[in-house]
Amino acid sequence: MIKIEKSSPDLETEVIFTDKCAHCGACGAFCHHVSYDESGAPQFDMECQETIGLCYNSCPRTDLPLDLYDEKLFGQKRVDIGLGVYKDIVSVKLKNADSVLLGLIEAAFSKGTIDTMILPKSASEKTRNNIPIIAKSAQEAKSYIPDKSLMLTGPLCPGVGEAYENGACKIGFLGNPCHITGLTKVMLSAFRTGADMVALKIGFMCASGGLTGCKFCVDFAAEHADISIGTMGAASGETIVIIRNKAGEDALNAAIDAGLIEIANKNPDLAKLKDLTNRKKRKNLLTLLGTDLAKIHYLGLGADQLKYFMIE
Ligand code: SF4
Ligand code: SF4
Repeated sequence: MIKIEKSSPDLETEVIFTDKCAHCGACGAFCHHVSYDESGAPQFDMECQETIGLCYNSCPRTDLPLDLYDEKLFGQKRVDIGLGVYKDIVSVKLKNADSVLLGLIEAAFSKGTIDTMILPKSASEKTRNNIPIIAKSAQEAKSYIPDKSLMLTGPLCPGVGEAYENGACKIGFLGNPCHITGLTKVMLSAFRTGADMVALKIGFMCASGGLTGCKFCVDFAAEHADISIGTMGAASGETIVIIRNKAGEDALNAAIDAGLIEIANKNPDLAKLKDLTNRKKRKNLLTLLGTDLAKIHYLGLGADQLKYFMIE
């Protein structure tokens, strides 16, 4: 991947001061010059002299040509223009797990796929600013499995950097699409970081995290995750699982083999999921078009792809 010759002042001008920031924390995942205030917004210290900043190059709101990322990450073009690249979509239900998410995490620990899991913990009742928690076992992870009311917003990506510094070498990560894309940008970047220690990215489907920057977000289905999960658009009592690559497939199979979850439907009705996805994309692409026509190009979307979402 190309390193773009821009750094924190450009990130401020293009993303933060234009209210596009998702508070994901990718900019500071591996950089000690970035911290986050109590709302989760990034703050850059003045000592940084970089002209090619990891922060700028990691941000999900800067250069993100979708076709190129699909190709680099999955080695193929997207299967569905809204849902991204996937191998399969199924719906699952609980068997012996407390939640589908915990089932996936328990199985990943027990199979040795991960030695650490990064999860969100609410930092304050008043804000949407979750902070990352580093769990070293399934038992530890269990106390931090988010309940349904918790938005996963907040700078979670620095949890990966911290886990790496503490010696983790098989890191699992749970986040919203913005976190997953930011982390993916770090992983695919030409910078040397510890992001190649990320072994499993679980994406939580997200209609909106309620932040100002969310109205510029066009990813509902966590398109750059290994496995995406969500209950929106699923039948009652079921969770939709999008398996995007081998890591995602292995994670699901491990949880099924361990008897923690089971397939509810091999061919779930995807109409609601697609409707939710396309509604979010259409609405927020229009926001991008309306406020900043030139910047829509950061997604590298062509006229045909744009037209697809603009047609009611
Ligand atoms: S969107 Fe994420 S990476 Fe970009 S500036 Fe905001 S916190 Fe940093
Ligand atoms: S809508 Fe969800 S995925 Fe998008 S920026 Fe907001 S919290 Fe992140």
